[in-house]
Amino acid sequence: MEQEIEAGRKVAVVTGGARGIGLAIGVWFLRAGYDVALLDIDDVTLRATEAELALPKRVLAIACDVSDPEAVAGAASLVMGRWGRVDALVNNAGVAVFKPALETSFAEWRHVLGTNLDGAFLCSQAFGAIMAARRSGAIVNIASISGLRASTLRVAYGTSKAAIIHLTKQYAVELGNFGVRVNAVCPGPVETEMAKLVHSVAIRSDYYDTVPLGRYGTTGEMAELVGFLCSGAAGYLTGQAIANDGGFDAAGVGLPTFRRNTGLNLVGDETH
Ligand code: NDP
Repeated sequence: MEQEIEAGRKVAVVTGGARGIGLAIGVWFLRAGYDVALLDIDDVTLRATEAELALPKRVLAIACDVSDPEAVAGAASLVMGRWGRVDALVNNAGVAVFKPALETSFAEWRHVLGTNLDGAFLCSQAFGAIMAARRSGAIVNIASISGLRASTLRVAYGTSKAAIIHLTKQYAVELGNFGVRVNAVCPGPVETEMAKLVHSVAIRSDYYDTVPLGRYGTTGEMAELVGFLCSGAAGYLTGQAIANDGGFDAAGVGLPTFRRNTGLNLVGDETH
């Protein structure tokens, strides 16, 4: 996979890129021929990922807390120093605290909002300015189905993700003048370390019941949509939040029961 640096090669920046969905997105960009900067607060995992990818000329791993304005500015300088351009930014870094609203501490609230929302705001500002100056580029924010539908235990996480969806529209409206598109992807449940942390066995079983496609999404499926949104094929698409969720957002109350009945009693089913 190793190649010489080519003049004019595109550059993608992926936050939270050390593992999970962010890493899958980084790999998508590498396969599409981009050089890739992976930003992550977890330096140990980041270094391991960098070593595993083994593409020193094409991968720049930067230890960076996206909620820290100075760290983000430093990361932008490093990327510009290395490649002198940015074509795509994916704001993927995120943390989840699932707790009842009345038990969520202010520190937990700030931690979630600081990472998920401040991080996307700061990175969009720093890297968006670079793209705006070149009059082209794309930003994709990784929101969540929790930003589209309220749910128990997600006062901080869900609120941060709903805010990211609006942040997406704000940036889309302003950066559209500079030829930069901004969209959001709202994943349903995806098999990652984060999901392992916050999804108990019972929660997993609930998801299998509630998601019409009956399974978790894969990191690769998230990356494919992000890649499409950054590509020329999506050249007129901006300001949108797209649920990549196996139909979870479309499903209504009582869906598992309806689905269990489907096929057994399709004709003359009295339930509505
Ligand atoms: P992971 O926890 O597996 O990976 C996220 C990475 O981001 C970790 O390496 C994490 O480091 C890093 N990170 C956390 N805080 C910061 C920060 N302040 N600055 C830079 N990096 C940071 O998560 P996923 O891959 O599962 O999730 C990726 C995104 O997708 C998140 O925004 C998440 O909210 C969203 N999402 C995930 C879903 C799922 O089911 N997995 C569903 C819907 C949305 P550390 O380990 O130290 O925290």
